[in-house]
Amino acid sequence: MEMRVVSREQWRDIGEDSPADRLIAWSVDRFAHLEMAITTSFGMEGCALIDMYAAHRVPLTVIYLDTMFFFEETHRLRERMVERYPHLKFVNRGTTITPEIQAEKHAPELWKTNPDLCCKIRKVDPMREAVAGVDVWITGLRRTQSSSRANLAAVEWDWKFQLLKVNPLAAWERQRIWEYVQEHKVPYNELHQKGYPSVGCTHCTQPVEGYQIGQYTRAGRWNETNKTECGLHGYGI
Ligand code: SF4
Repeated sequence: MEMRVVSREQWRDIGEDSPADRLIAWSVDRFAHLEMAITTSFGMEGCALIDMYAAHRVPLTVIYLDTMFFFEETHRLRERMVERYPHLKFVNRGTTITPEIQAEKHAPELWKTNPDLCCKIRKVDPMREAVAGVDVWITGLRRTQSSSRANLAAVEWDWKFQLLKVNPLAAWERQRIWEYVQEHKVPYNELHQKGYPSVGCTHCTQPVEGYQIGQYTRAGRWNETNKTECGLHGYGI
């Protein structure tokens, strides 16, 4: 296996309970000279996190995976983020397998019959390729996003992708993210105002009745199945 630049000794000096701003400053100081990348699906957490890192004025890479099933609102949000943070490099590392090729090779509407395979093709495999040259992976994951994320560490080794992962917002609640976004005027997906707690692909994301922006739930994702995770972060699949 390829040797990684970051060793365990380099990340044992940060407290697990450190606040987000401390974790962010520490990761910038320690790793910005290496291949460090933020990944995002342009959820509210990701947008807030990008804003926090952007304040450090280091030329970071932001990786996103266009599944070719983005909402128009997500495309518009991406454009607003790119415009607002010109010193960050936004890179699409989404699949090159078109929906037509996928339908021909596997099944039409694969997201209905085998969503795990669809997510593998359109998210997990592209992410594996995207982070292959990355040393430090920054995410906007939070512990209270789902029961499977309850034990998320702020700094951890990702065994699935074999690299260091930093989750500065691990201890935050959605309400706090929402307050940050408002206070700092960070762009966010218009769909949150229309009842969508989280936003993924058009085929697998629904609005949730009674949803109030500022709350978070995985409801509305993969409604017809037991699936709650796309598999990107070692959960699901
Ligand atoms: S979220 Fe749905 S459409 Fe998107 S990759 Fe996963 S199964 Fe496919």
